[in-house]
Amino acid sequence: MKQSQLFTKTQKNAPKDEVSLNAQLLIRAGFVDKLSAGIYTLLPLGLRVIKKIENIIREEINSIGGQEIFMPSLHPKENWEITNRWKSLDEDMYKTKDSSDKEFVLAPTHEEVIIPLAKKFINSYKDLPFSAYQFQNKFRKEKRAKSGILRGREFIMKDLYSFHLTEEDLNDYYEKVDKAYLRIFERAGIKEKTYKTFASGGTFSKYSHEYQTLTQAGEDIIYICEKCHTAVNKEIIADVENKCPECGEKLSKTEKAVEVGNIFKNKDKYTLPFKVTAKNENSEDILLLTGCYGIGLQRLMGTIVEVFNDERGIIWPETVAPFKVHLISLSQNEQAQEIYDNLVKSGIEVLYDDREISAGEKFADSDLIGIPYRIVISKKSLENGGVEIKKRNEKESRIIKIEDIAKEIK
Ligand code: ATP
Ligand code: MG
Repeated sequence: MKQSQLFTKTQKNAPKDEVSLNAQLLIRAGFVDKLSAGIYTLLPLGLRVIKKIENIIREEINSIGGQEIFMPSLHPKENWEITNRWKSLDEDMYKTKDSSDKEFVLAPTHEEVIIPLAKKFINSYKDLPFSAYQFQNKFRKEKRAKSGILRGREFIMKDLYSFHLTEEDLNDYYEKVDKAYLRIFERAGIKEKTYKTFASGGTFSKYSHEYQTLTQAGEDIIYICEKCHTAVNKEIIADVENKCPECGEKLSKTEKAVEVGNIFKNKDKYTLPFKVTAKNENSEDILLLTGCYGIGLQRLMGTIVEVFNDERGIIWPETVAPFKVHLISLSQNEQAQEIYDNLVKSGIEVLYDDREISAGEKFADSDLIGIPYRIVISKKSLENGGVEIKKRNEKESRIIKIEDIAKEIK
């Protein structure tokens, strides 16, 4: 894509009321626009990142048998009365009415739709287990919407739900989701900083697990076990007697972290009120067990920004970067155009800065936007034998021949 065609622009300053680093950088670099507290538009660059993240998650969830669906955001009150959450989540939900006073909620989560949906199709053990997921907006009255895109009032979640006849089967699938999550966070570049964290399990299982990424921007405190790379959320540290539930090591080191995902065994919490049963092999009706598993997409994107940045801007991991190459032409548009065409032909995603502005401005924008490879073509680079290439996290550039560019990048 040519940068002259991008309708958005970079900005010197973020809005004054934007206190979080992720949103400051993302707004200045032109990835997101703030509409209101906790409500952001994804601009072309930002949507490209979200789509990369979405595809990583999709591939990994498909690989454990998840079937992608898309449920509505607007839910009738009845479904939420069945679980009693019309009342219990009242303070967190955006509720509305239609012209005949029928009440609805803008969904903060989707158990109230997926559970009765499963009831329509699942009759016997032969239909089980199964899991379904979606990428869909969630709406929540977040009181502290001060963490930029880490805590939106409207945000996209990957929410996966699994259905099982036995607890053993639920436990098996739970472990598979854990492995898939680790692959997702590895591919997103944050594996080392992300800890599988024991957290409160509510009434139906001893623990749930959160995936907590170390950052000062996080709102959670976790106790980390360096021995086995797991952690315990401060909320339950007393319950585990300050010991790692995995290896027994004494826990004392605390860190700030953000929850990028979680996995939860709900057991029959939702299938009971909706009476979702299936026949087992002896033709007995068995109440189904469920698990639910979430990842916030903007939360993950914002976390990556919090982890990978320097004083000049964002440093995207290649796997989620909006483009792989930032091609910068300093008054050499003819050769640059040729390089651009060739890279695009070989399937490399390029942002080509063809604008009529100073070299300094182009470099500053490039550092701010944070694309992994920067290639500069100028009179000087041509005299030196080609183009300058530099990774965003490297200090010095080097000269390579024009014909070697594609090879160098692939
Ligand atoms: P938190 O404790 O941070 O409020 P939560 O316990 O409400 O999170 P869930 O309702 O289980 O989270 O949602 C699943 C995932 O969705 C979380 O792990 C997180 O990645 C993401 N998420 C939750 N709330 C938000 C939000 N307001 N903005 C962006 N992502 C969110
Ligand atoms: Mg919450």
